[in-house]
Amino acid sequence: MSATTHAFQAETRQLLKLMIHSLYSNKEIFLRELISNASDACDKRRFLALADAALMPEGTTLKVSLTVDKAARTITLQDNGIGMSETEVVENLGTIARSGTRRFMESLSGDQKQDAQLIGQFGVGFYAAFIVADKVTVVTRRADASSAVRWVSDGQGEFSVEAADMAEAGTAITLHLREDEDEFLEPARLEGIVRKYSDHIGLPIELDGKTINQARALWTRPKSELSDEDYQQFYQHIAHDWEPPLSWAHHKVEGTLEYTSLLYLPKRAPFDLWDREQARGVQLYVKRVFILDRAAELLPPYLRFVRGLVDTADLPLNVSREILQGNRVAEKLKSALTKRVLDMLDELVATRPDDYATFWSAFGTVLKEGIVEDANNRDRLAKLLRFASTTQPDGATVSLADYLQRMPEGQKSIYFLTAETAAAARNSPHLEGFRKQGFEVLLLTDRIDEWVINHLTTFEDKSLVSVAAAAADVESVIETADKARHEGEYQATLSRLEKSLEGRIASVRLSGRLTESPACLVAPENALSRRMEALLRQSGESLPATLPILELNPEHPLVARLRETPDDDAFGDLAELLLGQAVLAEGAQLEDPAGFVRRLNRLLLSEPRA
Ligand code: ADP
Ligand code: MG
Repeated sequence: MSATTHAFQAETRQLLKLMIHSLYSNKEIFLRELISNASDACDKRRFLALADAALMPEGTTLKVSLTVDKAARTITLQDNGIGMSETEVVENLGTIARSGTRRFMESLSGDQKQDAQLIGQFGVGFYAAFIVADKVTVVTRRADASSAVRWVSDGQGEFSVEAADMAEAGTAITLHLREDEDEFLEPARLEGIVRKYSDHIGLPIELDGKTINQARALWTRPKSELSDEDYQQFYQHIAHDWEPPLSWAHHKVEGTLEYTSLLYLPKRAPFDLWDREQARGVQLYVKRVFILDRAAELLPPYLRFVRGLVDTADLPLNVSREILQGNRVAEKLKSALTKRVLDMLDELVATRPDDYATFWSAFGTVLKEGIVEDANNRDRLAKLLRFASTTQPDGATVSLADYLQRMPEGQKSIYFLTAETAAAARNSPHLEGFRKQGFEVLLLTDRIDEWVINHLTTFEDKSLVSVAAAAADVESVIETADKARHEGEYQATLSRLEKSLEGRIASVRLSGRLTESPACLVAPENALSRRMEALLRQSGESLPATLPILELNPEHPLVARLRETPDDDAFGDLAELLLGQAVLAEGAQLEDPAGFVRRLNRLLLSEPRA
């Protein structure tokens, strides 16, 4: 095969350029990335050899060796991992295959400092070689192939691929250092970097023949031997995250179920947190052997942000995703790991509330799914929930326990209001009576809240009740809305209004909950809440329309004016405006916005109708 030249994918070119310039201040990480790949390749070979022994002859010791050639100004990193075929070389070292990285490329802001941080989040990996090298040669042979390939590039626009010779399976990467990078020819410098970033790799890393790392998988070492730094570096290796984790928990458990788990909470949500297709979960090892990268079966979906690993002796080495599904050991591991994560969150709440707030703003919406999905842990999860509240400024949140603590005498339930936006929630007419009574109301504005709250009917024996359904709890205090006094005088007006708005509302009644607004809408008893209905409709569900009840504040001048308007057209305008503003106050859309505006203007100008 003669050499063929390929152009890098456009995104790859862009990434290379950006990386060489913006990661310059932290260039030593190239070694971490290359060692990380070598380690992955060795894991893969060991794993595939479980099913096909020919892939790894007996007596093979998987390892990484670093050699320096001062005269040629090169360093070479050689592993005896799985290696790559020609097609794989072209695909893996020419394009950006992982969807996360692709999305990262789309999100670039042009702000170099910020972009550099983002790069790390996605672990751009192999291309980091070009930070220090102006030419990179890769010779690789797949463990199941007899011939090798050579890949060469200067990291500009192209790379070439040709046949090569290689005695053993694996990959050798040679970096031809850029002019000012002689520091990386110093063994002491290289050893320092390996120690710093790769000590935790469970694979010997040799420098000029001598093993320079611990070569013991980090999680197998006792906690007392490990520093925060060690844990953080390991996290960055397995999670491809630039930032240190928010928290971690390392446990060795013996007994009926034997496992070691090392679980991490990231600081930041990945770009694809909401991408259902994206692989989730922790790594699975069986007796130190890497088995699966993203074993989604070992944690419930609402904990999909957790990174880390579990190593167990209780599953067979040939376990696959299919076997994991519905497997009893896997089920037990799942509930044990779930408990570990919840413990970690509890501890964060108790000891580092600011960090918990960081966690909540990154992953709170995901954790909430647990209330719906995981009935067994619902009570624990409920304590971890945080809500905006009428007692807090924008951005601050409260827990249900905070709420209970503040609850005044005479308040029966925990009140909440769901709305489209924070502003719509805070200004909702439904709050008026509660505000007047001094009852705190939780403000729920995430799309998922409506579902969550449906599954959380009580907290510590108090029921959670929507303000839309709890008018009676505050009516007694609103002396202005002495409904009984008004019933008689409004009777005729109410039936006239019902006629005028026929087909759009179920009925009209006087309200005891309003103190400032003239009107609001409520769902009829036993119907879905108004917002739930709107959400279901938005998600494509076709529902029979439930007509709302229009409630009027009898003390409001606009409502009083209704009573004093004999003219049918003028009455109709006013009726439309009252209904329209009640719709708007919910953050919902008007059926006929232009008509609403016309009527509003007529009223503002108080023009007699022609
Ligand atoms: P990542 O490691 O996150 O997948 P990289 O850019 O570091 O991304 O590597 C790209 C791909 O190239 C890897 O996924 C792997 O398939 C392949 N690769 C890189 N280095 C090696 C190696 N030493 N041995 C085998 N395959 C490798
Ligand atoms: Mg990598």
